Amino acid sequence: MDTKELGFHSKLVHSGGVTDSMGSAVTPIYQTSTFQFRDADHGARCFSGEEEGYIYTRLGNPTIQELENAMAELENGYGGIATSSGMAAVNTVYLGCLGAGAHILSHDALYGPSRNIMETLYPRYGVEYTYLDTSDHENVKRSIRPNTRLIYLETPANPTIGLTDIAAISAIAHERGIPVCVDNTFCSPYLQKPLDLGADIVLHSMTKFINGHADVVAGMIVAGNRETYQRLRTVMVNMGFNMDPHQAFLVRRGLKTLGLRVERAQTSAMKVAEFLEGHEAVEWVRYPGLRSHPQYDLACRQMKGPGAMISFELKGGLEAGKKVMNGVKLALLAVSLGGVETLIQHPASMTHSKVPEPERIKAGITGGLVRISVGIEDVEDILADLEQALSHI
Ligand SMILES: *Cc1c(COP(=O)(O)O)cnc(C)c1O
Repeated sequence: MDTKELGFHSKLVHSGGVTDSMGSAVTPIYQTSTFQFRDADHGARCFSGEEEGYIYTRLGNPTIQELENAMAELENGYGGIATSSGMAAVNTVYLGCLGAGAHILSHDALYGPSRNIMETLYPRYGVEYTYLDTSDHENVKRSIRPNTRLIYLETPANPTIGLTDIAAISAIAHERGIPVCVDNTFCSPYLQKPLDLGADIVLHSMTKFINGHADVVAGMIVAGNRETYQRLRTVMVNMGFNMDPHQAFLVRRGLKTLGLRVERAQTSAMKVAEFLEGHEAVEWVRYPGLRSHPQYDLACRQMKGPGAMISFELKGGLEAGKKVMNGVKLALLAVSLGGVETLIQHPASMTHSKVPEPERIKAGITGGLVRISVGIEDVEDILADLEQALSHI
């Protein structure tokens, strides 16, 4: 059916548009590497693009296409490009937009590897970078160079939960003909739609909220227009960053309950953030749902809800952080986020340990910073677990 006019939760269940000849209610796993042509002419027409048809799974596959179509619809984009991981999506965008002599401008607190590869791998290919606080618009304008080819944002940023005004930065970028990409992993399209706000490309680690069950690694890019879609799709296909049909099936299944999961997790996250803010061992809490968040107004404008990610600073710094992490019983001491289970981690020693210390402190990733991804357990149990863990300090 045409899902364009449906509400978001209905789209989560019904969008994708791939129908199966057996009448299967769910798009099956087309676990095949290649597809048979009816005859030589059919094969030729598929290759020339005269006729739509599947050729080879790295180029396209019905199970994967269903997920790509669904994500493009949910993000209000032109087309989706599924990738083997979130990092494959990041690299597809970097490779598709940048080249020798190009410059990228980005937020200083990013998903660790998204920044790390730009500082260690891409300079070998002649790419320049600037990392700064993208909430400072004057500094963004000053830092744009004639060779800036991409502005890359993550909002809320990982792990500081700092926000960037997507509409404002997109306006600045577009005046200068520069495309904007937003990593929307922390929000999912349920809470934030970067393309509607002016961005040109959205990407996800679907490992997180979209799949939501901590059992798949996967990525997705949604391009806002045809030209960008084709350019990035060519990179994905030729680099071999493609998704596997089984991965696509699992992620499509997880996607159906995205709204329910995020809704419940963020209701609990609000209670957890309030609890932490009132706790004597906690220096401060960063959560877009709290009025104490320096960009609370922007959060209300840009996001449909504050999400399930919280960062907080312990008064006792690194040592106190270790005690809390060794003390939790319900929450898993693990990186990643966006699953049904509550996860807790320490960015300075874990996800952001490769960022040199002075840079880390500059980006707000202090020794006592702890990040929680609130799950869908009973909130009373999550609060009791944190209460007892904090009592170890
Ligand atoms: C996890 C994550 C990534 C990388 O995704 P993988 O699926 O682990 O490759 C990129 N951006 C953000 C914000 C993430 O949380």
